[in-house]
Amino acid sequence: MTTFESLGLSPEILRAIEDLGFESPSEVQEQTIPVLLEESTDMVALAQTGTGKTAAFGFPLIQNIDLNSKKTQGLILSPTRELCMQITNELKQYSKYYQNLSTVAVYGGASITDQARQIKKGAQIIVATPGRMKDMIQRNIIDISNISICILDEADEMLNMGFFEDIKEILSHSSDQKNTWLFSATMPKEVSIIAKKFMKNPKEITVGQKNISTKSVSHEYFIVGGRDRYSAVKRVVDANPDIYAVVFCRTKRDAQKVAEKLIEDGYSASALHGDLSQAQRDMVMNSFRRKQIQMLVATDVAARGIDVDDITHVINYQLPDEIEIYTHRSGRTGRAGKEGKSLVIVTKSEVRKIKQVERMIGQKFTQEELPSGDEICKRQLFHLADEIKKTEINHAIDPFIPNLEAEFEELSKEDIIKKFFSVEFSRFHNYYKNAPKVVQHSADESYSSGKDYGDETRFFINIGEKDGFDWMSMKDFLKDQLELDRDGVAKVDVKNTFSFFNVATDDVEKVEGVFESFMLKGRHVNVEITKDQKSGGGGGGRKGGDKSRDRKPRKRFDKNNSSDFKGKKPGGSNVKSSFERRRKKN
Ligand code: ADP
Ligand code: MG
Repeated sequence: MTTFESLGLSPEILRAIEDLGFESPSEVQEQTIPVLLEESTDMVALAQTGTGKTAAFGFPLIQNIDLNSKKTQGLILSPTRELCMQITNELKQYSKYYQNLSTVAVYGGASITDQARQIKKGAQIIVATPGRMKDMIQRNIIDISNISICILDEADEMLNMGFFEDIKEILSHSSDQKNTWLFSATMPKEVSIIAKKFMKNPKEITVGQKNISTKSVSHEYFIVGGRDRYSAVKRVVDANPDIYAVVFCRTKRDAQKVAEKLIEDGYSASALHGDLSQAQRDMVMNSFRRKQIQMLVATDVAARGIDVDDITHVINYQLPDEIEIYTHRSGRTGRAGKEGKSLVIVTKSEVRKIKQVERMIGQKFTQEELPSGDEICKRQLFHLADEIKKTEINHAIDPFIPNLEAEFEELSKEDIIKKFFSVEFSRFHNYYKNAPKVVQHSADESYSSGKDYGDETRFFINIGEKDGFDWMSMKDFLKDQLELDRDGVAKVDVKNTFSFFNVATDDVEKVEGVFESFMLKGRHVNVEITKDQKSGGGGGGRKGGDKSRDRKPRKRFDKNNSSDFKGKKPGGSNVKSSFERRRKKN
């Protein structure tokens, strides 16, 4: 086995590594570190999230710094403030035995004056987000003309976030003599374009699937109706009282909506997405890190690079648009040698995407049934029993014991236990007794089998026979524009000047997006959700149907509980308090 000693690292760094408890280098570290220490070269290194890329560039960078000079010698560009802080923090730990080495983080949303002051004191290494970095160079606060190493970390994500121009501008202020090291989890076309544009004969290193900290993730999926995603999440959470999870949503709107619903249902959850201010995002992240929040409901961009150990579940509220992103999501769990689960909630029309993801990650998914109400009640009950067994007796209650004992004198031990557990158990039991059924499907039923799944939405479009369409050519036209397969567009009905069609309700945003400003033969194409979802035999019923279905169970539930447990909702306070109880002991 390769050791850190054999890579050529300095005694100072080796000591820091020992303090960090890293036993042996990860594959990407093993491959990059010796090369970067020995040769002055550009490099492109590709390795999944969680494979230790920070140290792979961090160790050689630190060892390359001339401590006798206070000039800025190394620059790391990274996509988000969160990552910037994480990298800075890691580098400080790696370089703790170098007295004169200073690393400064530069990112937006924080005081520029403070950052300028830190830089003035001398920052041999700067870790920056592109936007703020460009700004500080333009204001002559930072001089990077002398840097010898520039690192583009999470290059794929920086490009996704539209930082290409900023990076180009920043690098134009640096010398041609420097070396550029690019680290990325994936290599989309755009990344190879930067590699060509900014680098000279880069050495290329690609590390396979091996992942130091995500090796123990199991992948599972549930097939539900489009409107049952939330109920599915709720069941998963109720069946796992100690869950500590990130729920990934495709859009900011969904992240906000799901977080709000969870909070309303009494869970400890919070949204994390780009519409929050930087300060709000920091607050959310800190609370999550401290486990004051049990579920983070996030968009991919906002959650990128989050490095929190102990996450038990990653829940994919929907699959990401680009399947490559799935790896980033699932890599948030199963870290630091612990086991984790990555759960995906899909509708029938999305099952085929699971196969694509399987091919990409080289791992199989198992299809699971959502836990039944009975199963949930049972798990909650034994979880509570477990908590009680683990609870230390608080002797402040001693003085009250005689009175309490008198209170229960009449009851047998058996009855006391029954009554005691009923307090908690009834909350879940009453809820699930009446809970709406979550529609579940098996993988082999096909989407187009003609049944009404209730998760389609019917659209009106202002083109028809007059524009030369019949139903077949209209279907082809729609599926091409929407990039859906044949079954993705249904119930096409072409009239003279307009037409109707159905898509899965999950694809509504896509339809709206694609046709937002669409021209056909010089005419503006207009697409709207039809008011009468029934017309033309459409399955939908999205508007009215949705609401009545959402509301009823809640009302029934409240009614059932109001006598015994005022205001309490299932899952809520119990989940939170037992979670916090557990925390305090740790
Ligand atoms: P990446 O940038 O590839 O996503 P990170 O650099 O953030 O991965 O590392 C992921 C986690 O693994 C961090 O908590 C880091 O401290 C830890 N780590 C890095 N290298 C090692 C190693 N050789 N042994 C054990 N843990 C490591
Ligand atoms: Mg990283």
